[in-house]
Amino acid sequence: MLIDSHCHFCFPELLADADGVLARMRAAGVAMALNISTSMDDLPKVVAFAQQHEGIFASVGVHPDQIEADEPDLAALVALARADKVVAIGETGLDYFRLREPLDWQRERFRTHIRAARETGKPLVIHTRSSAEDTLRILREERAEEVGGVMHCFTESAAVAEAAMQMGFYISFSGIVTFKSAQALREVAAVIPDERLLVETDSPYLAPVPHRGKSNEPAWVADVAACLATLRGQPVEHLHDTTSNNFLKLFNIL
Ligand SMILES: [Zn+2]
Ligand SMILES: [Zn+2]
Repeated sequence: MLIDSHCHFCFPELLADADGVLARMRAAGVAMALNISTSMDDLPKVVAFAQQHEGIFASVGVHPDQIEADEPDLAALVALARADKVVAIGETGLDYFRLREPLDWQRERFRTHIRAARETGKPLVIHTRSSAEDTLRILREERAEEVGGVMHCFTESAAVAEAAMQMGFYISFSGIVTFKSAQALREVAAVIPDERLLVETDSPYLAPVPHRGKSNEPAWVADVAACLATLRGQPVEHLHDTTSNNFLKLFNIL
């Protein structure tokens, strides 16, 4: 069994051919996927999609890039997080790459998500880009270690991974790890302990080698897993088993 820990089923690229995407995913041995929400508009669709499809789970949150999004308040996030098949809060975090200061609203939104996670006991799905130091600081200040979660689409250093793991977080690698230019990231991926490793597509973005340039989909998490197995010197079945067990444990799926 293999599990895609992060995808966006309700983005038009995937939703337009949802039946085909699901069929190809299952044919590739990908039994489950976490459907991630990015805005308040998105949210009902993301949750409904999970409720209608076996093996699909949902997260609730508003992405740090959504500058004009309706701002979620704590009570709304907590209420939404209690719906059937919602297993996580996110994606949330900080992104200093696309947007420029003042970004107090982004940090405040991040804090609201961490509080919702602690209130509901659901783990966090963290997005961090060009902002690792502030991301770790806010996770610490808001006591995110009480719930843990995943650093999704990880592209940071081994030191950042270590700091996140010390707070109980898992490290998830996407198709970026297969890119020719990602040698430094492969060195980080090689040393993450088995019990903290997850895999994802972040589809429809970031199609792994050999699908680069196409619209990504959950079936191709198998290519990410194959790359990780090779660079870690492990049988691919071992990679599938450990990352699947980690997913079920982190998100409390029985
Ligand atoms: Zn992200
Ligand atoms: Zn995402």
